[in-house]
Formats: sequence, C-alpha cells, structure tokens
Amino acid sequence: MSFRASQFLITNEDGNYLCPACGLPGYFDGRQFQDDIGGVIGTGICPCCLYEPGFDDDPRASADARETIIESILFYRARWIDTGMPWYSDIVPAPAHWSATSQLEQLFVLAPFLADTPE
Ligand SMILES: [Zn+2]
Repeated sequence: MSFRASQFLITNEDGNYLCPACGLPGYFDGRQFQDDIGGVIGTGICPCCLYEPGFDDDPRASADARETIIESILFYRARWIDTGMPWYSDIVPAPAHWSATSQLEQLFVLAPFLADTPE
C-alpha cells in the first residue's frame, strides 16, 4: 500500500498535529509532509522521540531511513519502543502527567494505518 505524504499530517481534536512516530501532539504545524516533497527537512523535530520529517524518512539524509515514509516511521518507532519509549529531549521538558503509552494509543485511534506493520 502506498501513501501520499500529506496522509502523515494527523491532527487531534484540538487541531494539533501529532508526531507520526510516537503520537506526541503540538510540535508540528502541518508543513512537515507535503505530497510533492515528502517529509520536509527543517520543519521540526519531535522532542519526545526526536523523529524529524525530511531527515528520518529520507534515505538520502539518514542511513536508517527506509524506502517509504511509512516504513521509516514504523522502523523509527520500533527502535524508540525497544529503548523503552523514553522522552529524549534535554531542552523541552516532558509535559506534566506525560504518558508515552497514552499518546501512542491516541495516534492509533486517529490514524489506524500508522499502527500497521510494513510489508
Ligand atoms: Zn515523536
């Protein structure tokens, strides 16, 4: 299955964009994925999992990126989960009552296709 890049722009009920890798809301503004470009470099880094559109999903930029955005997201998330779903940023503090599990569940409710395993 193939996806348009804009399908990775996921919003919650408050209109905040979610990180497609870990589900954290509020750190993206909707320019991160453009259909004609893909992930757009320089538009933000998730303070929770450090996913960076345009870098972590671009094989020309990151050796860990996969061929497609969805494969890159699922790979990146699997590695974040394997390390215990930490809050990575030293600069941006985690929100009060932060829950990695809850934000990931919310992501899967809003975008079930992001819970899928790649081929
Ligand atoms: Zn994230």
